[in-house]
Amino acid sequence: MEEMKKRVFEANMSLFHRGLIVLTWGNVSEIDREHGYIAIKPSGIPYEKMTEDDIVIVDLFGNIVEGELRPSSDLPTHIELYKTFDNIGGVCHTHSRWATVFAQAALPLPPLGTTHADTFYGEIPITRKLTPEEIAGDYEKETGKVITEAFEGLDPLSIPAALVASHGPFTWGKNAKKAVENAIILEEVAFMAWHTLGIAPNTVIQDELLDKHYLRKHGNNAYYGQTGI
Ligand SMILES: [Zn+2]
Repeated sequence: MEEMKKRVFEANMSLFHRGLIVLTWGNVSEIDREHGYIAIKPSGIPYEKMTEDDIVIVDLFGNIVEGELRPSSDLPTHIELYKTFDNIGGVCHTHSRWATVFAQAALPLPPLGTTHADTFYGEIPITRKLTPEEIAGDYEKETGKVITEAFEGLDPLSIPAALVASHGPFTWGKNAKKAVENAIILEEVAFMAWHTLGIAPNTVIQDELLDKHYLRKHGNNAYYGQTGI
């Protein structure tokens, strides 16, 4: 549990140091599926003051197992994602600028080049807007539900990100570190896509190139990088 707290602390801090976080607007968690525990950032603690011991451990019902502080208010969204996407191990949420621009415009993020295709195997879905009842109800849980709804028929590990309409991005991965890495890549491709569409609104990536770049890194016959690393 201590090691998971350390990993989640470091993942949260790397998000901050990468400039994806303004004030306290973001959170990262990781799940231990064997014990059913989630480690998550505490609510409203400035990154400059946060320590490893501030990371909160909760169970899948949101009950605090270890920690003095309240968990991030977005915890129910994370729980919903862990419950539905049973092959993910870490979740990250930010309000990073360019990804949030697409989310606020309620637009999906299309694959326009190989930078996108290396990590995301297709368009990054935009959720539907929440209904007034969902906003008034269990809001954070409903946010998780509109994400999983947008992924019906999609593999969450092939496209490890979603844009929540009027809100911002959620990313995930096999652990907290990978979820953060995907948030950094998402922000970069959103920045590129905004500018590409500005000068060439009809840009599309060829299907063959999308396949080539995604599958050479992630397919059964992946050959990018070093083996065993
Ligand atoms: Zn948010």
